[in-house]
Amino acid sequence: DYTRSLEEAARFLRAHDRFLVLSHISPDGDATGSALAVAHILKDLGKSYTVINEGDTPAKFSFLPGFEQIRNLSASPLEDTFSAVIAVDCADRSRMGRVEHLFASDAELLNIDHHPTNDSFGTLNLIRTDAAATAEILYDLTVAGDFPMQPDLALCLYTGLLTDTGGFRYSNTTPHVMESAARLLAYGVNPGDVAERCLEVITLGHVHILRRALARLELSHQNQVASVAVSRQDLAETGADREDAGGLVNYCRNIEGVEVGISFVEAEPDVIKVSFRARSYVNVAELAKKLGGGGHAKAAGCTVKGSLEEVQRQVLALVGEAMGSERG
Ligand code: 5GP
Ligand code: MN
Ligand code: MN
Repeated sequence: DYTRSLEEAARFLRAHDRFLVLSHISPDGDATGSALAVAHILKDLGKSYTVINEGDTPAKFSFLPGFEQIRNLSASPLEDTFSAVIAVDCADRSRMGRVEHLFASDAELLNIDHHPTNDSFGTLNLIRTDAAATAEILYDLTVAGDFPMQPDLALCLYTGLLTDTGGFRYSNTTPHVMESAARLLAYGVNPGDVAERCLEVITLGHVHILRRALARLELSHQNQVASVAVSRQDLAETGADREDAGGLVNYCRNIEGVEVGISFVEAEPDVIKVSFRARSYVNVAELAKKLGGGGHAKAAGCTVKGSLEEVQRQVLALVGEAMGSERG
């Protein structure tokens, strides 16, 4: 059970040294906050650790203490291998990216996550699928493991809670989330500043790509599905990068009467990153899983190979089936 998993995870942190800490590709606030939270716990235990990501970590999270320690593997490869690995906020191995060459053959992997589609890929798994964020599980781990709470750790955990609940607005915002957040604020977290950086500020690139995407927004399935598509050409012409194209899916789902919002972003030629958001009855985690991805019932994603048009057609057909069967 959960209490026992917390104890085992705490023991894992105390028993090993020289940790490799990582989160998922295209890291969000929970992934980054959680990876750095683990780093702060390890630091206070006097352990050594390396925090990595396959790619870049968004600069908007640079206010997080320890951010500068996160290594971008694609920019600066690592030669070492590690026997103790901690993966946070990853639903399956593929979410970690191309990092497994860093795992020693006898590596033990602690998998800390909250996705319902998590397949327990760790040698040790600390999973609570009704947690709003991986940071919420790490808050529990800090308490259960009797690790000292301190301002840097509190800021990282708070950021994970804030971002994965959409600013304490989504249905995953439980009393436990609010109580944990309140306790974290007592360590000096500035909630206005964190919300401003993570939720309010948008890049100019985002505005440019948003303008173009909204101009072509498509409604289908009796106006219950809204979708936007962004090609490599769109990104190039507007000067936006992939990260700038994040969050487009929310505009789709937020339209009155829309049940499923979808964004299609051509990440690489004929490689389409698909994001789903549902309002009430469609389980988009199951949809995404059918396409090789995963996530939560109301927020999920996957990467599908094919042209933008092909993938749009394929995914919209699948959504139609799901809506038909789930509503009857
Ligand atoms: P987003 O659409 O913002 O990229 O992701 C929404 C949710 O779906 C997040 O919880 C994220 O972890 C999950 N997700 C997105 N893409 C994938 C994917 O390719 N595989 C899996 N397993 N989960 C994904
Ligand atoms: Mn995440
Ligand atoms: Mn998360």
